[in-house]
Amino acid sequence: MGLRILIVEDDAVLADGMSSALRKYGYVVDCLADGAHADQALTTEDYDLTILDIGLPRMDGFEVLQRLRARRKKMPVLVLTARDELADRIKGLNLGADDYVIKPFELTELEARIRALIRRSMGEASPALEIGGLTLDMAARRVLLEGRTLDLTAREFGVLETLMSRAGRVVSKEQLNERLAPGAEDLAENAIEVYVSRLRKKITGADLSIRTVRGFGYLLEATPRA
Ligand code: CA
Repeated sequence: MGLRILIVEDDAVLADGMSSALRKYGYVVDCLADGAHADQALTTEDYDLTILDIGLPRMDGFEVLQRLRARRKKMPVLVLTARDELADRIKGLNLGADDYVIKPFELTELEARIRALIRRSMGEASPALEIGGLTLDMAARRVLLEGRTLDLTAREFGVLETLMSRAGRVVSKEQLNERLAPGAEDLAENAIEVYVSRLRKKITGADLSIRTVRGFGYLLEATPRA
């Protein structure tokens, strides 16, 4: 189960771009286009983080933020502001925003800010994926096999995180490529195969397997203990 993010943005193109990028990173994303709906959703739903535009129909981002903090919700809020709106940024931070991103921005930068905010807000209790004796700590970027830390490279970690967050579902090579090198040129033809084969060796002993789905991608599954 991925972390839940709410995007509140009335620019449909920008909202779509952010949500599809964040889904590729494994987040569960909801999108709303007006402040009143956002205020409602933030009252009833539990999100791990909100990305909040300021200029919104029906209720602006400042009011959404103010009302959220008045309910003593501590969830991290990342405000989106226009380049020349310094006053907005200051007002947002004063109202309890945790960080801001200036439009236009790179999606990779947005994701890095999100990860930092989530890490900060989770503190010690970091989110973890657990399958077949393997524990992947998303915030600490660490994988444990029955208490022992595995020595993984950043890319091996990325492959494993992607496969574990979609356990039981087939993940395409394109999805892995996008996760490892977002927006960049594709990795060399067999690079992902190499990462997967190294991973298989390193997770030996865990009760899970990474199956190759020919011509498509990979499937991580828990395997019953023999
Ligand atoms: Ca707007």
